[in-house]
Amino acid sequence: MNAARAIDGKAAAAALREKVAAGAREFARKALRKPGLHVVLVGEDPASAVYVGAKEKALHKAGMDGAVHRLPASTGEDELLRLVRKLNADPTVDGILVQLPLPDHLDEAKVLDTIDPEKDVDGFHVVNAGKLAVGKEALVPCTPAGCIRLIKEERGDLSGLHAVVIGRSNIVGKPMAQLLLAENATVTIAHSRTRNLPELAKTADILVAAVGRPEMVKGDWVKDGATVIDVGINRLAPAEDGAKGRLVGDVAYDEAARHAAAITPVPGGVGPMTIAMLLANTLVAAHAREGLEAPTL
Ligand code: NAD
Repeated sequence: MNAARAIDGKAAAAALREKVAAGAREFARKALRKPGLHVVLVGEDPASAVYVGAKEKALHKAGMDGAVHRLPASTGEDELLRLVRKLNADPTVDGILVQLPLPDHLDEAKVLDTIDPEKDVDGFHVVNAGKLAVGKEALVPCTPAGCIRLIKEERGDLSGLHAVVIGRSNIVGKPMAQLLLAENATVTIAHSRTRNLPELAKTADILVAAVGRPEMVKGDWVKDGATVIDVGINRLAPAEDGAKGRLVGDVAYDEAARHAAAITPVPGGVGPMTIAMLLANTLVAAHAREGLEAPTL
């Protein structure tokens, strides 16, 4: 097999962000206000701070209003829930995102379920998870929503293709499986207790890895001609010379690329799509709240 084509998530995300920015301008013309996205960050987790900073930049670049609410790690549950309820009640706020993980003393599920489902642009509220499961219009978690766009651009009609999703988290694995199912793929969800994972993975036309284990998926797990979507973001240990550790996915890229037809690199594959989808979800939520028809993105 020749080396696989690298799926350019950066380019796909840039194209989507442009459409969202055009949609945001049109929305502002009709609704006489910009779409509003508010991000809540509790504590000083360095990775979360980087993600939130990137979201803040992206939302302004897309022509949206909004702010990041930075709260100390010691913030109590009542105070956090008060802020979420205030944002729920604010008519200029279309999207609310509480950055995860939260400090241990805060109940993540309770906080997420306090967000108004219509403003739940991360798609983690049980109402949105339920709607996705029964095939109703929903705000869909951004990372799997970005993955399904890349997969459809790559494969077109997914009917009858075998998709194997490794990972069953509420954030990636489960919604990913639902989205593939909605496209009529035959879906297998694999996880830490799955037997014969390499053999199972090798039967996949579409292989999605969302595990969080550096380069776990080896070349001989990949069927010739498969589409491989690597969601994992893992930083390897820093080198002895002090250089920052390399960023790798859940897939051993070079090996897998010898078998796959197309594969997402890390970085530059799935990652950039996540923020673009967050902006897209905010635009959709804003239209729904104003009773306007959202543009096709
Ligand atoms: P998670 O820890 O919540 O879930 C991991 C899943 O992997 C679990 O369902 C578990 O059953 C499964 N698993 C663990 N060990 C396994 C094994 N040995 N074999 C098979 N399955 C195994 O993680 P998550 O939130 O779903 O994220 C997964 C990865 O995706 C992480 O690396 C995370 O950093 C990355 N991520 C990337 C983005 C992005 O924007 N690109 C967004 C979210 C998450």
